[in-house]
Amino acid sequence: MKKGILRAYGKYLPLTADTPALSLCEGDTPLVPVCNLGRELSVNLFAKYEGLNPTGSFKDRGMVLAVAKALEEGARAVICASTGNTSASAAAYAAAAGMPCFVLLPAGAVALGKLAQAMIYGARVLAVRGNFDRALEMAREGAARAGYAIVNSVNPYRLLGQRSAAWEICDELGRAPDWLVLPVGNAGNISAYCAGFEFYSELGLLKSLPRFIGVQADGAAPLVRGAEVDDPQTVATAIRIGRPVSARTARRAVEMTDGRFMSVSDDEIMDAQRELASSDGLFAEPASCAPLAALLRLKREGELPKGLTVVMVLTGNGLKDPDSARSRVRPPEEIDGTFEALSEALGL
Ligand SMILES: *Cc1c(COP(=O)(O)O)cnc(C)c1O
Repeated sequence: MKKGILRAYGKYLPLTADTPALSLCEGDTPLVPVCNLGRELSVNLFAKYEGLNPTGSFKDRGMVLAVAKALEEGARAVICASTGNTSASAAAYAAAAGMPCFVLLPAGAVALGKLAQAMIYGARVLAVRGNFDRALEMAREGAARAGYAIVNSVNPYRLLGQRSAAWEICDELGRAPDWLVLPVGNAGNISAYCAGFEFYSELGLLKSLPRFIGVQADGAAPLVRGAEVDDPQTVATAIRIGRPVSARTARRAVEMTDGRFMSVSDDEIMDAQRELASSDGLFAEPASCAPLAALLRLKREGELPKGLTVVMVLTGNGLKDPDSARSRVRPPEEIDGTFEALSEALGL
């Protein structure tokens, strides 16, 4: 039964008697068996389908707690910088909590669906002439000066709530997967997954942690290169980040589990997106397809052991960014409204 993160996992979260019971019924997302691609890759492949959260991305898991705590602590408003999904989520939960929401976006670099979401949920949206990293610096300063709650992943409640995805995977599989493959932008999510698995391990619910494979885009790969990137570029706007805030904990997750960081090209990402949709019926936004691109590469290079249980995290819904998907496929053929035209087109 869907009841939201605060109720489902309240015993593992820093709730008090005064924390409002905020919920849009986030979490409890399906762990979908990805049968056709799994067979091709010779692994037991699952997708954690985070695009089915209320605003279409995993960001809702942490946002519900961050906004509930902001309300509890008496913040006047919430503010965030965003590549898109954080703002959509912040705006929705602020609306539900009855708080004003201010959003700073890198001008011209946010997918259309995400921008529409922030606006329809009633946030005040400012497009910053600069990249995400700059917008985040501005949001932090604005929050400090005005007494607003900043709900970027620098807000500790975000990552605490995001641990719930790891718990759901373990609850469902009865153990941790062998590999967890996920896209890495600001590196909050990989850090939260690691903390989630470690927490279950401390509770005695897990014998082993998964190996973490953190995937970045070639043009925005500071964790692969080991150096910050000043002008990150990639079609996967959700991971177009050059200075990851949680770099240190992300490195720890990868080192501790004998995992690795990898980067993939924009072409590999877009090919993986089409492959996932057309082979297995799952439509995820470009950033979410970086993990599949990485698995396909590892398979080609003979570095993907057979028979592993692999979970890839589909972090966001494909419908958020229809333009990038549409740009890679043939447009529909237009035909006359007659049966003859249909016969001719389909060779009936
Ligand atoms: C936020 C986001 C990411 C990156 O997550 P980080 O915690 O910043 O590493 C990846 N994919 C999607 C769809 C996102 O919204």
